[in-house]
Amino acid sequence: MNDTLFTNVRILDGSSALPWSGSVLVSGNRIRQVGRGPAPLAPAGASVIDGAGATLMPGLCEAHTHFSWNDAATLSAIQRMPLEEHVLWCAKVARRYLEAGWTSCVGAACAKPRLDVVIRNAINCGQIKGPRYLAASQEITVPGGLGDETLPHLPFPEFSFGVNVNGADEMRKVVRMFLKYGVDSIKLNLSGDNFTPDSPAETSWMTDAEVAAAMEEVRLRGKRGTAHARSAASVKQALRHGIDVIYHASFTDEETLDMLEAAKARVFVAPGVAILYAMLNEAEAYGISRAKATAMGYQVEWDAALESLSKMHKRGVRVLPGGDYGFAFTPHCQNARDLEFFVKYLGFTPMEAIESATVHGGQIMMRGHELGLVKEGYLADLLLVDGDPLANLSILREPKRILAVMKDGAFAKAPEIASARSLGRAA
Ligand SMILES: [Zn+2]
Repeated sequence: MNDTLFTNVRILDGSSALPWSGSVLVSGNRIRQVGRGPAPLAPAGASVIDGAGATLMPGLCEAHTHFSWNDAATLSAIQRMPLEEHVLWCAKVARRYLEAGWTSCVGAACAKPRLDVVIRNAINCGQIKGPRYLAASQEITVPGGLGDETLPHLPFPEFSFGVNVNGADEMRKVVRMFLKYGVDSIKLNLSGDNFTPDSPAETSWMTDAEVAAAMEEVRLRGKRGTAHARSAASVKQALRHGIDVIYHASFTDEETLDMLEAAKARVFVAPGVAILYAMLNEAEAYGISRAKATAMGYQVEWDAALESLSKMHKRGVRVLPGGDYGFAFTPHCQNARDLEFFVKYLGFTPMEAIESATVHGGQIMMRGHELGLVKEGYLADLLLVDGDPLANLSILREPKRILAVMKDGAFAKAPEIASARSLGRAA
């Protein structure tokens, strides 16, 4: 692997430090040197990329990823995609995420049992291109809960993107199956969701005995539990059982916020705010008018989520971007929009939004000691961005502004050499 020297770049390192001009030397898959000022580091035979003032920052981390959601408007359309097509779909989506700048993704459930594991393994052995990836199980649910798509007259489990369990013993069996397949995390649907009117967001579904059985198996194997938890009761249940990654957390009360704050060194919240926004404002073309979305409960949830997540952020709970991209109204690879939402609606500064996708991303990937910062010794996952993301976060979702993506020291999207001398332009 060649060494790469980025010169004349504005370094936004992912910590809260203000950007500075300098150069960065990548050696193998690690950042070897980070320099300040106009003098470039000694190239020592490295290929030199003159950034012409472009921003060099850590690769982004998506904290709530569903490669197998297939940009459809319904849940059943996810399940109707045959397995073979579904594998190819996931491989294509994984590559697109990487090229869009998402060098790490945290799988938050897949639609068929082994999709996430197969994609992660194929990425890791170089068979396909994709981000660093933590593979999830399917969503585990109970009859009637989110993820159970069976019908009374068509009780076939293949219709469901979740796996139904009844009781602690069935839970244990299913969790062990996914652990056998090699998942990094087990996903439990603790609350309902307004997308499924018979199991709305503020309802909770799983017994403590079921959750405890799942988490006992997860701990035995040193893996991680994650939860779909929109209701306050479900967030508390997740925290009580030692679940580290909480998806959504829309509804909270003082007790929930206190519990989250007490666990803030271990817990991550990845809310997926985009889908709430999209359902209210952008789903009319798919038959969901604002009036219909409001009737489904989305206005109430949007208001509650903004309040809950703003309070969490103030209390120092790590709230991360990503979540439920992969529907028609939230298509894949618009994920950086979350950073704009964090600033506009949750009280983040642009710098805090960047931190949520970088330094906190390294932490949720369980590699905070070597991932998520532009720092000597860290893994070389880097973006070269045309402009200043702190002045305009929306450039992070414009493919043309992502000049280069490096993962593990190798370019996933190489800078155009022809324009290497004039890569940057004003934000
Ligand atoms: Zn999700």
